[in-house]
Amino acid sequence: MLLSIVVPCYNEEAVIAETIKRLSAFSRELNELAVEFIFVDDGSRDATRSILKQHASHDVRIRLVSFARNFGHQIAVTAGIDCARGDAVVLIDADLQDPPEAIHGMIEQWRAGFDVVYGTRTDRPGESTFKRATAKGFYRLLNRLSDVPIPLDTGDFRLMSRRVVDTLKAMPERDRFVRGMVSWAGFKQVALPYQRAKRFAGESKYPLSKMTRFACDGIMSFSAKPLQLAMAMGMGTSLLALIGIFYALFLRIFTNIWVEGWTALMIAVLFLGGVQLICVGILGEYIGRIYTESKQRPLYVVQEYFGFQEEITFSRS
Ligand code: UDP
Ligand code: MG
Repeated sequence: MLLSIVVPCYNEEAVIAETIKRLSAFSRELNELAVEFIFVDDGSRDATRSILKQHASHDVRIRLVSFARNFGHQIAVTAGIDCARGDAVVLIDADLQDPPEAIHGMIEQWRAGFDVVYGTRTDRPGESTFKRATAKGFYRLLNRLSDVPIPLDTGDFRLMSRRVVDTLKAMPERDRFVRGMVSWAGFKQVALPYQRAKRFAGESKYPLSKMTRFACDGIMSFSAKPLQLAMAMGMGTSLLALIGIFYALFLRIFTNIWVEGWTALMIAVLFLGGVQLICVGILGEYIGRIYTESKQRPLYVVQEYFGFQEEITFSRS
């Protein structure tokens, strides 16, 4: 049996050596289970790639996929899954926020027959109150909107069986929200609570802008509810307009007071304009996604594979 551990890395020179050390120490405790490490260098601009190469040349278990540029975390994870050969695949961050030791528990559950064992964060000590609050809000909102239930407070740290990995590989979409895609796949899934540690070194590679984009991707690719919201807003506005019309008519017919002036007019025009623009924006988000899908570009561009003895046969359409 082979276990593949996929580690996406972007500008992680400060932690990567320590990560390799911790992962090797962890793998020594695995009996009867061979391990391969797949590091995906997501177009790092620092020494990450050379450090990884150096380790890969000494250790046959380490394989490296280097992207031609930065494609983003979710795509990096996808590339790792694409070339993993294991009977089970573990996704783990490079910054040691997810403790490798927790993988033992995941393997246990996998052996007990589960196909997906996802790590659920009980606590996130090393992160800012803002990040914790927005993350908490995001997972709850996503869960409400999404058509498939996506577990709360769960990142990409997880173990997946070969069946699930093959299902993921068969999913061609360009907007990748891996944790949602795994939920969608189904099979037997179970949570494994763990404490998310502080980042070992370096800075978070997810600034607010990337986090917002990521949240948007998650919601848009797993829910059509924003479109229904647009519809509901339209209905609400029409209803308001109708009430206004009856009110104006009532005054005109039964009293001497007329609804006057440009204030009412301005409010109505601006309100309507706002609602329309929001709705067009929501539509645009979905159409933009259709556009990206329709271009049918490859998901990522690999500059080099390193440490793979066999020819890489996998290709994505
Ligand atoms: N990462 C990546 N590409 C990116 C951004 C991040 O491969 O464009 C990797 C990063 O190296 C790390 C993981 O994704 O291993 C999670 O990133 P980070 O720790 O910065 O996010 P946070 O834990 O702060 O949400
Ligand atoms: Mg992190």
